Amino acid sequence: MIVLDKVNKWYGDYHALVDVSERVAKNEVVVVCGPSGSGKSTLIRTLNRLEEIDGGSIAIDGRDIHAKGRDVNALRAGIGFVFQHFNLFPHLTVLENCALAPVNLKRATPKEARAYAIQLLEQVGLAHKRDAYPNELSGGQQQRVAIARALAMRPPIMLFDEPTSALDPEMVGEVLQVMRSLAEDGMTMVCVTHEMGFAREVADRIVFMSEGRILERATPEAFFTHPQHPRAQQFLADRN
Ligand code: ATP
Ligand code: MG
Repeated sequence: MIVLDKVNKWYGDYHALVDVSERVAKNEVVVVCGPSGSGKSTLIRTLNRLEEIDGGSIAIDGRDIHAKGRDVNALRAGIGFVFQHFNLFPHLTVLENCALAPVNLKRATPKEARAYAIQLLEQVGLAHKRDAYPNELSGGQQQRVAIARALAMRPPIMLFDEPTSALDPEMVGEVLQVMRSLAEDGMTMVCVTHEMGFAREVADRIVFMSEGRILERATPEAFFTHPQHPRAQQFLADRN
């Protein structure tokens, strides 16, 4: 479903992605890990063109997403993205946050969008907070709303870039639980996370990056018990 072929990305003279090739199949959950500065965010951001690329190609369902003339807004509408910082609209209620994009992008009537948003809020355990404003919620609750908001566009792919790393530790679990149930429902997911327990239990595959390159790809079982590349071994040793 997602095919990266020799993707290269430069920031000025810094080579941030070096010949990155990877495939993510439909329904697959891929966790990208690696040290700080290894290019994980850069990589995930190329998948919805928050970053442009300087070489290679990325195709989603056979269509080159970086081709000239591709409609970036249409591309982004089909890919849910949840960042470290939730970026909810502060002046809108939880429900309004979730119902806004489908109406604005003419994917649903206001009534349909509301009904689906309520369903999604139930799914993330926040139906009772639908009329609250973001600043009345905990960080974990805000992040669950952010996930519901992304899901409101019915995207076939969800990207997560360290969705729990800005949260207080006691709120991490509730967000991971929502991600886990999405994975169980068959969502295609690419997740950058330092939550190795989540990676181990939920990922179909781990991709390990260092200095802009993918150095290892493995099942969680293989990666965590027998990492092959010395940098992967070091990375895991540093976390124990
Ligand atoms: P972290 O775990 O800290 O989030 P990361 O693996 O996500 O790290 P990236 O944010 O992708 O790393 O950054 C990869 C490299 O590219 C880093 O050296 C970073 O300094 C550099 N970089 C990222 N964004 C820019 C930018 N807009 N301009 C210049 N350099 C950048
Ligand atoms: Mg990052």
